[in-house]
Amino acid sequence: MEAKKIRSTFIEFFQSKQHHYVPSSPIVVKNDPTLMFTNAGMNQFKDAFLGNEVAKYSRVANSQKCLRVSGKHNDLEEVGVDTYHHTMFEMLGNWSFGDYFKKEAIAWAWELLTEVYQLPKDRLYVSVFEGDQGDNLGLDQEAFDFWKEIVPEDRIIMGSKKDNFWEMGDTGPCGPCSEIHIDLRPDAERATIAGKDLVNNDHEQVIEIWNLVFMQFNRLADGSLKELPAKHVDTGMGFERLVRAIQQKSSNYDTDLFAPFLAALEKKSGKVYGKDEQTDIAFRVIVDHIRAIAFTIADGQLPSNNKAGYVIRRILRRAVRYGYTFLGFHEPFLYELTSLISENFGEIFPEVKQQQEFISKVIYEEEASFLRTLDNGLKILDQIKAELKEKNEHVIPGKTAFELYDTFGFPLDLTSLIARENGLSLDEKGFNEEMEKQKSRSRAASESETGDWVLVHEDSGVEFVGYDFLETYSYITKYRVV
Ligand code: ATP
Ligand code: MG
Ligand code: MG
Ligand code: MG
Repeated sequence: MEAKKIRSTFIEFFQSKQHHYVPSSPIVVKNDPTLMFTNAGMNQFKDAFLGNEVAKYSRVANSQKCLRVSGKHNDLEEVGVDTYHHTMFEMLGNWSFGDYFKKEAIAWAWELLTEVYQLPKDRLYVSVFEGDQGDNLGLDQEAFDFWKEIVPEDRIIMGSKKDNFWEMGDTGPCGPCSEIHIDLRPDAERATIAGKDLVNNDHEQVIEIWNLVFMQFNRLADGSLKELPAKHVDTGMGFERLVRAIQQKSSNYDTDLFAPFLAALEKKSGKVYGKDEQTDIAFRVIVDHIRAIAFTIADGQLPSNNKAGYVIRRILRRAVRYGYTFLGFHEPFLYELTSLISENFGEIFPEVKQQQEFISKVIYEEEASFLRTLDNGLKILDQIKAELKEKNEHVIPGKTAFELYDTFGFPLDLTSLIARENGLSLDEKGFNEEMEKQKSRSRAASESETGDWVLVHEDSGVEFVGYDFLETYSYITKYRVV
């Protein structure tokens, strides 16, 4: 089954159970100071769960664009190194706002996976919340009993508060969850160790696919739990992981979601995917990152020097560096992949198709500007590596990392990544000290500014747009807040 069909089947399945389809909300969050990017399907329904808003429909399903590169969920370091964590991914979800609860959520999840998608039952494991003494909660008996009706007891795993109790924040709606995991190992390997023992163990082939959250409590400010008057269901399934399981691949990147991108990169670089681990990581990082970059720009977040814009710039520079070092791209190359984004995702996410040309231009400019300094920065890093080797030292000084940041545009995590690749570490504290020093230097400078020149620093969220010629024969520099 093709990825597109897998996605539409999910939506149609829940529509047949009276769910209303709602489009994905933007990946960039503009109106919530606690969140920079959408990191789960439930984000757009937060107010309904908090009781600030009455849900328009009591049953909803969708495919939500998510980005997990900052805050509570930050998977960036895993991406490309493993084969199932992405920066940007789609989360398929179904919701009940005070409507159905555990019984239906469990029965439908199982029906969809095993009857509609026909995933083999003997590869699936489910988990239930085992309880927590601190919260005075016992086993989620209800969920356990519903699962017991459909799966043998030895496929039900007891899960701790960490994996099986979901909370929105320090206070607010929360509740136990049941996760569904799949063991994709070849039969011979499965015969040696039970899949059950590998669940939640960072095993490449035994992975979590779906999380069913049952919101039944409200956490009060004093830490106690109160039963909610209306109970809700919030589920999230990683689309790329589901596609991999259905298409029987050993990596998300081997599915038809990523294949066209890998093929394009192979063609352009002359290198082959699947031959060398370090080159493969570069391939995976690039085809992952281009999605995050393109989708975020499509939702209105341009790369910049602060906040969400800087997160995107960092991801983009990371991809450019991987391409430069491991695939030999010394000219902009990422921007060319935007046509594939449009072709492959334009139907479900029209924003990437409608703005393809714009997205491509923004990426091209960013790449070109970073490539102008990348080569020099990498040369400096080579020198540092040689010097450290000579002295038998293993830490890149904070001052050097700061110079690379300030002069060559190397985000700290890029320098740190290159350090790790070379068996070195990085003095982050020293870097932060240098950063502070520079900030106070510029504060001091701006405080002494008077007259007609308006000096605004790049990191204060403004962008230079031009000069105005005033009658008084002085120039005023114009900035626009971005
Ligand atoms: P994991 O334990 O694998 O990191 P999670 O428990 O953090 O996943 P949830 O917050 O429960 O994930 O999100 C719901 C579903 O979204 C997961 O079951 C998984 O299928 C998918 N998912 C989570 N993080 C990612 C990611 N970085 N890339 C792709 N899919 C993901
Ligand atoms: Mg996670
Ligand atoms: Mg998990
Ligand atoms: Mg989970």
